[in-house]
Order: sequence, then C-alpha cells, then structure tokens
Amino acid sequence: MTSPSSFGRKELSFAERLARTIEAGGPMTLAQYMAQVNAHYYATRDPLGADGDFTTAPEISQMFGEMIGLALADVALRAGPRQSPCYVELGPGRGTLAADALRAMEQARFAPPVHLVETSPVLRGRQLALLPHATPHDDVESLPTDRPLLIVGNEFFDALPIQQSVKTEKGWRELMVGLGQDRTFAPMAGERPVDTRIPEALRHAPEGSVHETAPVGAAIMMTLARRLMRQGGIALFIDYGYEGPALGDTLQAVRSHRYADPFADAGENDLTAHVDFTLLGNAARQEGLAVYGPTGQGAFLERLGIGARAQSLARTAPDRAAEIEAARHRLVDAGEMGALFKVLAVAHPDWPRPEGFAG
Ligand code: SAH
Repeated sequence: MTSPSSFGRKELSFAERLARTIEAGGPMTLAQYMAQVNAHYYATRDPLGADGDFTTAPEISQMFGEMIGLALADVALRAGPRQSPCYVELGPGRGTLAADALRAMEQARFAPPVHLVETSPVLRGRQLALLPHATPHDDVESLPTDRPLLIVGNEFFDALPIQQSVKTEKGWRELMVGLGQDRTFAPMAGERPVDTRIPEALRHAPEGSVHETAPVGAAIMMTLARRLMRQGGIALFIDYGYEGPALGDTLQAVRSHRYADPFADAGENDLTAHVDFTLLGNAARQEGLAVYGPTGQGAFLERLGIGARAQSLARTAPDRAAEIEAARHRLVDAGEMGALFKVLAVAHPDWPRPEGFAG
C-alpha cells in the first residue's frame, strides 16, 4: 500500500538529501560532510582501477602485497611457534592485497585465518568472491579477541573524515560546509572559536592558514593499539601523508583519475586527505606500542627485496619484463609513489622488530 505522503514522490538524490539536512540543521562540520559523502561513494561503486576513479599500489602489481605478506609472515614466525595470529585487513578494496599477501605467506608455510573490515557492501562482495574463507566485519570491534593480530591497511586512513580549522581575522574557526548559491555545497568558517585545538607552535599562523586533525583515524588507531597490547601482534599502515604537526589544506577529490572540487558532485568523487603519521604514531605510543617509521614506501619495499622479486618475475615471464619493471619503478621511485607514500608499523613491545625499516 502506498501512503498518501509518499504517493508520486521521486526518490531524492544523495546530494539533495544532504542539502536538505543542511537546510534543516544548518552547516555541518567538514568531518560530518566527508563521512557522509564517502559512505555514499564507497557503498555505491567499486572505485578502483583504470576504468574507475583511482589506482592503488596492490592494483599496480602483485609485488606490493607479496612484500607485505612476507614482512608479516617473518614477524609472526620470529614471534614464536606458540603464537597463532590472524590476518586482518582494514578497507581491503578488491581484496587484491590480501590475496597476494596470503599467497606469499603460504610460501613461508604460514596460513592464518583472515578477517576483513569493510563498510562498503559492493567492495565486501568483491573481497569475499576472491577470499571465500574470510570473515567479514563492519568495524574493528568484532575482530577476534583471543589471538594476536597481523593488521594491514593500505590507503585506509586517508579515506576517513578529517576536521579542518581555518585562521580567520577573529581567530581559529572550524571549517563547516553550508549551502551556497544554487544549493551548491560551500565551505565556510564556523562561529565557535577553536583556538585551543591548534598546537601552540602553530596558533600564531597567518590568516588563511588551515590546520587538520583526524579524530576518527586517531580513535581507530587507539582501539587497535589497545587490542595489540592485550593480544599481541603488529599493524602495518601504508598511505600518503606527512609527519605533523603542520599547516595546510590536503583535502582532495578525485574522479576518473583527475582532481575534482571536493564540494561539487557530492558522493560522486573520492574524498581523501593526507595522513598525519605523527598523530597515528603518538596514539599508538600512548597505549604502549613500539612504533617503527614512517619510512618511505620505496625504501620499505626495497629493503624487503622487491628488486629481486621483480627480476625473478621477469625471468619467468620475459614477455612481461617491461611491464614488471614499470610497476616496480612506479611503486618505489621517489618521483612516483616511493616518497609521498609512507609505511608506519606499530607493534606489541615484546614482538620482534619488523623488516623494512631503517636502523
Ligand atoms: N586497500 C584497498 C582500497 C583502498 S580505498 C587498496 O589499496 O586497493 C579505501 C577502502 O577503505 C575501501 O575498501 C573503502 O570501502 C574502505 N573504507 C572506507 N571507510 C571505511 C571505514 N570507515 N571502515 C572500513 N572500511 C572503510
């Protein structure tokens, strides 16, 4: 039966529903905007690959996941035979990294149970098609509590909502998203002073300066850190980012491999921000974990032996040698992904030091 109020009503688009929320409740924080936009974006598509919006390291070459898998297997085997950790991945995309990592681990005679944390039903479907024995999770809370965890996240933290503060003539204000002309989404400074949120060394920055924090990412890191302290294990996070505290607006939107306006076509672009590795490292350190890195992705992969792996793959498939070399170059070269992308490891203090980090 159709109720009179819904009779003939058209299904509203996501952007229109978001606009109505702002119309009714006033401007929302950038963090709220980013959370809603990305939830819609990831829930409604597979954004990866040449035909999609962006490409990630595991989609460039199997060597990426293999190196991660070997690093994890090595730590787990050195941690001792009594440990029986599980493999956990956060935001596994198409499941490519997990599949490559688990295959490499198997070569080291190590086959842990697999747990995947994913919010997008579309991507979860792809992950389970590739890894039918994996256990899916909506969030980190339901992960096993009875064994050590080997956690991986590639380009996971960059997709989580950030908070931005902007320096105005009246002081620091939170960046809000309101409605501009023609019902477009428009960034604007909020009313409430937020000066105390800004690290003291940066508070006197000139007008127009932007400071970012990642409250959701920090909270997830703290939850994982408590788990690792209690259960043992290690987490490896790979992402593009910087070592804070720093100023700068790093919010970006990408569609079909091109930059777009983060406030246009809400829900149709991928919104990300650079990851503050200092913030994540400190959250883990506070809970008692040992922190390694961040180190450049290029140096990390080279220390783990990506050069030798590329040569061996090229010997097995000479017709693909040029393609394999191009992929290796893209992953490690400082002008490509090698320096902007960084690797951070956090581990139980009694667990062995992971390979791939200097010193
Ligand atoms: N790791 C993959 C995909 C990166 S894209 C790769 O490297 O190819 C970001 C991934 O995080 C997607 O799978 C997306 O659906 C997932 N994601 C985004 N927000 C999330 C959240 N809050 N919890 C769990 N997964 C999330």
